[in-house]
Order: sequence, then structure tokens, then C-alpha cells
Amino acid sequence: MIPTATPQACDLLVTGDLILTLDPKDRTLSGGAIAVADRTIVDIGPADEMRARWTPAQTIDGRKRIVMPGLVNVHNHTPLMITRGMIEDLGFAPMYTPGIPQGHWLTADDAYALSSLGMYELLRAGCTTVVDFYRYPQSCARAAAELGVRAVIAGRVHDADPAGLAEGRYEYKRGIGEASLAENAELIARWNGHDEGRIRCDWAPHAPDTCSEDLLREVAKLASAHGGNIHTHLSQLPSEVESVRARTGKTPPELMDDLGLLNERLIAAHCIHLEGGDIELCGRSGMTVAHAPIGNAKGGRIAPIIELREAGARIALCTDTFSGDMIEAMRWAIAMQRINRQGSVLDARTVLDWGTRTGAEAIGLGDKVGSLEIGKRADIVLLDNRSPSLAPLVDGYGVLVHSASGHDVDTVIVDGRVVLAGGRLTLADGEEIVARAQAVASRLWTRAGRSPLQ
Ligand SMILES: [Zn+2]
Repeated sequence: MIPTATPQACDLLVTGDLILTLDPKDRTLSGGAIAVADRTIVDIGPADEMRARWTPAQTIDGRKRIVMPGLVNVHNHTPLMITRGMIEDLGFAPMYTPGIPQGHWLTADDAYALSSLGMYELLRAGCTTVVDFYRYPQSCARAAAELGVRAVIAGRVHDADPAGLAEGRYEYKRGIGEASLAENAELIARWNGHDEGRIRCDWAPHAPDTCSEDLLREVAKLASAHGGNIHTHLSQLPSEVESVRARTGKTPPELMDDLGLLNERLIAAHCIHLEGGDIELCGRSGMTVAHAPIGNAKGGRIAPIIELREAGARIALCTDTFSGDMIEAMRWAIAMQRINRQGSVLDARTVLDWGTRTGAEAIGLGDKVGSLEIGKRADIVLLDNRSPSLAPLVDGYGVLVHSASGHDVDTVIVDGRVVLAGGRLTLADGEEIVARAQAVASRLWTRAGRSPLQ
């Protein structure tokens, strides 16, 4: 922006000791500032010049702060916070695990309490955009809307009976499928485009084994009319691959391809158990792999993301309701590939890109978020540079990915609005959110035969 003699008004000026823009030129600014007006970044430059150019209504003093774009998490299910700390050692995904409180145990209010906890944790750790889908998706949308998170929300479409799944039986029931389609459709009607597009809604068939072919065909039709992405789980478990093969004679990616779902609009978590020509098929399709390294580890096998990327697939990062700390997910992604490939195959800058710009591009928000650039929405994170985890600071990227954690996040701005300040939510009471979720967990785990400590 060309300097003017008279300062212009703006809503917000964010300064920072170091600004990592993650823009295409990888611009970094020491002693920089970002001006925000009408939710949007309108100027970035040296702090002295910016103060002369802009008269902000509000200033965020970023002394001793590192400023970066908000993190983008492309696959998550906040109501599954109910399983936190209780399922990680069991080896299966929640949908397939017997005896744990989940989906059909929850009410809409339970889902809202748990989703608020999940959204709070994500914001606390610098995640400003999340793809979140589960049963009671309107509860997730409400939680995201209230806390100020940018979110893509979807339902959990399936017609396999969850009661049978937990015992390894696949019973497809028309009523279950219709109810889950209706839930996703109602979500879209009520929430899509909320708050100038901060909340967007998509379609999400749970997985190729938990959805019959007829249901997947129906979702493909509905999603084609709606636009946006389709979110799913793909080749997550050996049992999924076996079940799809027994039912259709195809691998999960082959089935999705035949049904017209395997394309650049698909964001599929996991992609672990790929066989034969699956990697080439996924790569050619231009789909996005939502890589969940912490979730992958649970089953003892890591997705071949390097091979998938080489074949043409896009790789983005997600937490999938494990630790909500995207920085931790980045670190795991690197470590797991180094073990898998017996060597150094990924670096900090690459995974940082997956957790910001690439994730934003995958969900169709590449022109809005994922980097700090003029014209993009102001989704900005400030980390406390006084933290011992962020020292010493040399290039910024290495220490951030290999050493920092979400707890170093101090301030979070979404759409130009400060939603976390000094580690505390500004639009809701964090302590109350934790207490409400605890009450839900205590009640449901008691019902499951456990004795919660609170
Ligand atoms: Zn998932």
C-alpha cells in the first residue's frame, strides 16, 4: 500500500517482534505490523511506517511475540472429546469400539458441551480454522459460532448400525441412513454461510464401509448440487478394507472412484491401508489426504504420505480429536515419516505449510486464510516469544515446529476479532466450558460402568 500523508482509520493494528507471513515469498518481518479493517488484512509492513499510516481503533502490542497465520485443521470431531484419554490405548476408532460413550449415547446438548471444549482447546493452541463433523452437527456449528472459530461443519452420514459395528457386524439400515442425511441437510439449511461465511457446511459420509453404495451415491448427488468439499475416512482400518472388498470386490479408493467421489473435492482422513494401485489412483484423483499422524500411530501403521504426495495427492494436517495441538501433529508427521522411510524426508517448513496454506487450499479457503497477506481474512496467532520453548530463535520455522507447543500461543484473532487474549477466551468462559464438558463425561462414563474421578 502506498504511504499517505494522513493516517487512515483501521479496526486493528497487530505488531510483532517477528512476523512469519508464510506468503509465497516466505516474507518475514522483524518489528512488523499488520493492519486490519473489515475483517481483512489491509496492510503489512515495518511497525514504524505502519503506525504513521494507520490510526487503529484497537492495537495488539506484539512485543516479545511471534506472529503467524492461524493453523488450519482439516479433519476433527469435537463431540468425540468424550473419548479423550480413554480410547487412545484401545487401538480402534471410536465408531468401531464397544462399550464407550459416543454418538448414539449423546444428546444435542451433550454434543454442544463437548464441542465447546474441543473448539476451546483448538483456539487455545492457535488453530483458527477447523473441519469438524459428527452427529448433532448443529451443536458443533453453534459452539464454533459462539467461540469465534472459523469452521467447516458437516454431519456424520452412515447407514451401518453403530450397535453392530462395535461387534464387527455390518447391518445397513435405511432409517439410519435417511436420518443422518436429514441431519446433514438441516445443518446446511440452518448454518451454511453464517457470519459472512465464517461457518461453512459440507457433506461428510463417514467411511466406505459404514455407508452402503446406495447411500454413497446419494451423498455424491447431494454434494454435487451443494458444492464445497466431501469429508470422509478412507482406508483407515484393515477391517474397513476387508469389509468393502467382501461387499464390492474393490478397495475403498476403487469404490469411491467408481461412485464419482474420488476427486479434488474429497478430503479423506488416514489413507493408511492402501493396496495395489491405490496410491496411484488417489494421487491421480487430486484428492486431499487429511493426515492424522497421532491417530495413525494408534494402529501401528503410518499412511504413505510421501508416496501419495509424489503420486499427486495433496497432503494437509489434522488432529482428528487427539491432542488439539497442531504443532504437535506437525512434529509427529515428521518423526513418523523418518521412522517409516528410515531417513530425513520431511522438514519443518513443509509441515508448517501443510498446517496452514495447504490446508486452507484443500478446503477452498486458499484465497482467504493460510498466510498473512493483504486481502486475506485476518486470522492471526501470536506466540509468546519469552517461552523457553521458543528460544533460541534463528530462522523461526525450526524452533516453532520442533520445539514449541500450542501452550505458547498467547493471542488468537479470527476474522479480525480477538477471540483469545492472554490465553483466555474473550467470547466465552473457558472454565465454565471445561466444567460443563466434565459433567457430561462424568455422567456418560458412569453409565458405561466406569467411575470418573470427578
Ligand atoms: Zn476422523
